[in-house]
Amino acid sequence: MNSPHDSFKRCKLCQATTAVPTYHLAKTTIYRCSNCEFHFSDYLDGPLPPAAPTILDSNTSRYIDMRSRASIDLTAQRLALLSRCRDVQACRLLDIGAGIGRFMLAAKQQGALVEGIEPSRLRRDYALSNSALSLHPDTVESPFWQTGYREYFHVITLWDVIEHVDFPVETLLQAVNLLKPGGLLLLETPDRMALPYRLSERLYRLSNGRFNLFLDNFYSVAPYGHKQIFTRPQLVELCEHAGLQLCYLSGAYQCQTARGKNIILGATKPG
Ligand SMILES: [Zn+2]
Repeated sequence: MNSPHDSFKRCKLCQATTAVPTYHLAKTTIYRCSNCEFHFSDYLDGPLPPAAPTILDSNTSRYIDMRSRASIDLTAQRLALLSRCRDVQACRLLDIGAGIGRFMLAAKQQGALVEGIEPSRLRRDYALSNSALSLHPDTVESPFWQTGYREYFHVITLWDVIEHVDFPVETLLQAVNLLKPGGLLLLETPDRMALPYRLSERLYRLSNGRFNLFLDNFYSVAPYGHKQIFTRPQLVELCEHAGLQLCYLSGAYQCQTARGKNIILGATKPG
C-alpha cells in the first residue's frame, strides 16, 4: 500500500514525480520538485465541511472594515492596471476569491458587469450588507460556473488566490474555461524569490532544520491557507499550462505597495 505522502511526489506544477520532502515545518512539510524547483505544502483542504454559521454583528463588521482599509490603495492600483489593458466599461468581469468585494465594487463603479466568488459566508454577508454585492459561494470548478458561464467573461482576476488553492494548474484551467477568446486573466501572488523566503531557506539549511525564520509564516494548514509559493518563471509556466499567452509580468505596481508579490497577466487566444 502506498504511503499517504506518495501522492506529493507528483509535482503540482510540472506533474513529474520528482518532488521530495525538503522543509519540515511545525505543522506541514514542504516538498521541492527537482525538475522545476516548485515548492508546495503536503497539506490539502480537500472538500471542506460547511462552516458553522457566523453572525455578521456590528463588532465583526467594524473589524472587517478596519482590516480592509489597508487594501484601498491596492484596489485602486489593480483597477488602474486593468484599465491600462482594456476598457472596463461594460466588461464582464469575474473576481475569484473576491473577499468583501472591494475590487468588484471599484470595477462596477467604472462600468464593469461584475460577478464574484467567495467561499466565506461572513465576507459574502459583509459584501451584501455594505456594498449590495451578491457573491457566489460555488468555487470555479463547480457545474454552476463550468456549464453556465463557459467562454462568458472578458476578464477574470485572482488577487492573492492561487497560493491558497489545492491544485493551482487545475484551478487556472477551470478559470480559463470561463474566459472568452481574447479574454484577460490577471493574477497576483507572493514572490518566492523575495528576501524573507530566501533568507529563511538559508537559515533552515545552515541550522539543519532547527530554525526556519519565516518559512512557517509562508505556509499554513488553516482552511484556504497558503499551500504553494511561486517564482516568476514558475508563474510563466503556470500560464503556459493553462493555455494563456503572457502579456505582462511585474514585481510590483508603480508606487511599490505590493512588494514581495508578482503580478502576471495572460490572455486567451483571439477567436
Ligand atoms: Zn515540478
